[in-house]
Amino acid sequence: PVIDPAQLLEGMNDPQREAVLHHGSPVLIVAGAGSGKTRVLTHRIAHLLAARGVQPGEILAITFTNKAAGEMRERVEALVGPRARAMWVSTFHSACVRILRRESKLLGFTSSFSIYDAADSQRLMALVCRDLDLDPKQFPPKSFTAKISNLKNELIDEETYADQAANPMEKKLAEAYFLYQRRLREANALDFDDIIMTTVNLLQAFPDVAEHYRRRFRHILVDEYQDTNHAQYTLVRELSGGAAAHAPKLTADGDFVNPADARLAQIAPAELCVVGDADQSIYAFRGATIRNILQFEEDYPNATTILLEQNYRSTQTILSAANAVIERNTNRRKKNLWTAGDQGEQVVGYVADDEHGEAQFIADEIDRLTDAKDARPGDVAIFYRTNAQSRVFEEVFIRVGLPYKVVGGVRFYERKEVKDVLAYLRVLSNPEDTVPLRRILNVPKRGIGERAEAMIDALAARERISFAQALVRVDEAYGMAARSANAVKKFNDLLAGLRQVVESGAGPAAVLEAVLEETGYLAELQASTDPQDETRVENLQELASVALEYEKDPGERPESDGDDGPPVGSLADFLERVALVADSDQIPEDDEDGGGVITMMTLHTAKGLEFPVVFLTGMEDGIFPHMRALNQVKELEEERRLAYVGLTRARQRLYLTRSVLRSAWGQPSYNPASRFLEEIPDSLVQWKRTGAASAPPSRLTGGSYGSYGGSSGGSGSGGSGGSRGGGRMSGGGAHAAPKAGWGKSARTVADRDVVALAVGDRVTHDTFGLGTVVATQGVGDKAQATVDFGSAGRKQLLLRYAPVEKL
Ligand code: ATP
Ligand code: MG
Repeated sequence: PVIDPAQLLEGMNDPQREAVLHHGSPVLIVAGAGSGKTRVLTHRIAHLLAARGVQPGEILAITFTNKAAGEMRERVEALVGPRARAMWVSTFHSACVRILRRESKLLGFTSSFSIYDAADSQRLMALVCRDLDLDPKQFPPKSFTAKISNLKNELIDEETYADQAANPMEKKLAEAYFLYQRRLREANALDFDDIIMTTVNLLQAFPDVAEHYRRRFRHILVDEYQDTNHAQYTLVRELSGGAAAHAPKLTADGDFVNPADARLAQIAPAELCVVGDADQSIYAFRGATIRNILQFEEDYPNATTILLEQNYRSTQTILSAANAVIERNTNRRKKNLWTAGDQGEQVVGYVADDEHGEAQFIADEIDRLTDAKDARPGDVAIFYRTNAQSRVFEEVFIRVGLPYKVVGGVRFYERKEVKDVLAYLRVLSNPEDTVPLRRILNVPKRGIGERAEAMIDALAARERISFAQALVRVDEAYGMAARSANAVKKFNDLLAGLRQVVESGAGPAAVLEAVLEETGYLAELQASTDPQDETRVENLQELASVALEYEKDPGERPESDGDDGPPVGSLADFLERVALVADSDQIPEDDEDGGGVITMMTLHTAKGLEFPVVFLTGMEDGIFPHMRALNQVKELEEERRLAYVGLTRARQRLYLTRSVLRSAWGQPSYNPASRFLEEIPDSLVQWKRTGAASAPPSRLTGGSYGSYGGSSGGSGSGGSGGSRGGGRMSGGGAHAAPKAGWGKSARTVADRDVVALAVGDRVTHDTFGLGTVVATQGVGDKAQATVDFGSAGRKQLLLRYAPVEKL
């Protein structure tokens, strides 16, 4: 080995060491943020390789993002050398895709199956619902997609669901689920949730396959275990064996009921090591359940649990703030996170008049820190609750010339032009893939209209062939107009020509170039005078360089396992990697001069990361915690865990900012201070600006808002509320008179009672006009209504602040 195993343990505390060295039984490491969970996992892998004679191919390590996987592989490589490359370190999805490619024939797919992302799934579901003649108002395809995703996360397949569907709504959903799955199979495609569920099915249905992987993976390690959903949980269980659920069924005579069990029973379970923090579980909306952690011991009766309590990331002040917030959650195991490090500086609080002021403060502060050489731009992260909040920061940063990068948002790969061109590549890689095929059918416009498409559809249904096959066959003989038939023929010729390019062995970059040229897509954009099209051309250039980069250095698959997947360097391999790129993969590498760039991202994306300087922005009730969580205990607790995640990303400096006035739903809204601010003890926060000064005094004496802080905060923050920006005083400030020119809505803010609305009520709104209430939620200050404003659309209003009157 490159390294002396003892070196791997240097500087570790006792429980960390125990976690690295633990042998045999499953081990669960539960610990607060920054206590070295991920580091322990990395060192454990290195130790397995360096000291226990484990082969890299016997290790499967699961991380939450591809970026995290890359980092882990790099670190292990730094510790034990290049042979670490043969390990499987990947996300759940990447690992399952590898398994499925290898075994696809058992399931009736070819190994070049496509992966549908969320947008593809939506499109397919829209088609399915149309074919089932479902009224989109009554049965919105979007909600069907979401429900099916949930079902898959719970491992409920279409047949099981059909059996349990009880009411008419569920029966329709069951029908749609069936057809949706059939269409996927016909297209030789899997959606994102299928990837996990299908792998679980595979392992459960084919004992030989289960045996193969159980013999192979002797060590399974999972990071961020708190965010695994039921399907992922089951996957780990099936891969490792050894859970109580795996006890083979025996006959009265002690024989195996299922002969295959006899072989599986001979394989010792893999060593399982999972690490997580129930306080950081933030994906309940995707089906993640804390149950996976809480019941680990139940499922694995011989498991060892290790607690880590020392934090190595943050100052004591930051930790105290984070602890104070998370302690408000009920039903959690109490943890006592401490650090041997410094007290550090106070948390800095700032109350801005509006979101532009908030962004300006942050820009000024970053300037100050970098001028004083206290931080480089790359040390700084800005977090917000929802993607849309990044725009204002972007505007200000561009204006003042601060280098930044937004992680997430409208992702590059979700932009229309990028998706269009990738759709061509997908069709070339997998001719049966219907969704991208339909996408490009008339893009760029070539005279294949909806009627022609419907005709192809009908032919496919009549002949029981796929859409792609029908496309090739359809012509005037099937009653198609000569013009359309001609257009279809030209399109088929185009695809055939491009396919030749692929078959000629051209790499992804060359194929992409051919697509851009031959389809006329690029020429059309270049001829346009619309500045947006200019941006589109730039994006396509960017895509071309992505392909070129890949072609130059396709990297390597960790281990080539015979025929498990498309060959490295191929179009299919390129598409697979593109499909698996997750949000946090776009975090920039340091730039040339090493100063790095500011990172902006949502709180969800920040999980697992750390930064010397963190700005947590939009700390307002209704923003963070999110509006929809305000009066839902469970959701509020999830928001609080999200706050805990955000606070604990900071190493040295933590800023908490909020804005008194903020545009929301196209209208100014006044948000009170976030209750999470209230939960942080006064002594930990230094308020640089409380915002109270900007509030006209008359407003500060009003009755209704004065009680707000009291209702949200609890009593832990002491009696000095009036002096702190996050406290009651600024809660009052939050309802101050708006800027001049805002119009009569002003009266709606502090002077009146909340309008009581019921479904069916007619209302008038200062901006949106006349509307009808279609739903209501919550009571008193938290009352909301969903109002249909006709052509202005449906809006969700927080009645306390919305300039709305009942008619
Ligand atoms: P999170 O819950 O946020 O994912 P974590 O528990 O995974 O956090 P790590 O990211 O592994 O924590 O570690 C936090 C920081 O502490 C890292 O910078 C890591 O290198 C450092 N660290 C962990 N353990 C030690 C140690 N024994 N000595 C020195 N530094 C350590
Ligand atoms: Mg971690």
